[in-house]
Amino acid sequence: MARMKFICDAERCIECNGCVTACKNENEVPWGVNRRRVVTINDGVIGQEKSISVACMHCSDAPCMAVCPVDCFYRTEEGVVLHDKDICIGCGYCSYACPFGAPQFPSNGTFGLRGKMDKCTFCAGGPEENGSKAEFEKYGRNRLAEGKLPACAEMCSTKALLGGDGDVIADILRTRVLRRGKGSEVWGWGTAYGKSHNPDAKAPSGGKS
Ligand code: SF4
Ligand code: SF4
Repeated sequence: MARMKFICDAERCIECNGCVTACKNENEVPWGVNRRRVVTINDGVIGQEKSISVACMHCSDAPCMAVCPVDCFYRTEEGVVLHDKDICIGCGYCSYACPFGAPQFPSNGTFGLRGKMDKCTFCAGGPEENGSKAEFEKYGRNRLAEGKLPACAEMCSTKALLGGDGDVIADILRTRVLRRGKGSEVWGWGTAYGKSHNPDAKAPSGGKS
């Protein structure tokens, strides 16, 4: 069984926000929520500016799952971390625990008034029946059940953002790194999946995790 992961290759990201738009459009994400966003590091510093596309990384040992007081998170057989909006009480613990700022609420306010937490589903829907209207309305499209990969990664014109079987995308990145002879820039990989699974482990120096 494939284990789904994301990689964003900062050497290739051109900050076009195509991934952000693809996600919003495919999943009809609620107003005010960005399941995916593009972050620029060292903005304006010549030669050091890099952009990365950030969303839920579907962590191997997910902090959101560990802190949720009502256990609304669960993991699919493919390693995708999903949550149940019917159980969520809007406490916000997950948004504090997440190292990627992935869980978001549709409105501001104190405990219980922010609505149900929303986050990237790896385009894998939620607990409702696959492809149902109820699933789409709460979580967006279930592309994985249709045999498709997440819309953000499919839309990325430079293939900076890769989403799919972790072994396959790590191999793609490793080949790129060896060809260009510099770091893989896989920001967040070590945090989300552990250092031992870092695709940059045997690559030339300069990568981030
Ligand atoms: S990125 Fe954040 S929300 Fe996603 S699995 Fe990891 S801790 Fe949970
Ligand atoms: S679509 Fe690709 S290149 Fe464009 S901002 Fe997203 S990750 Fe970067």
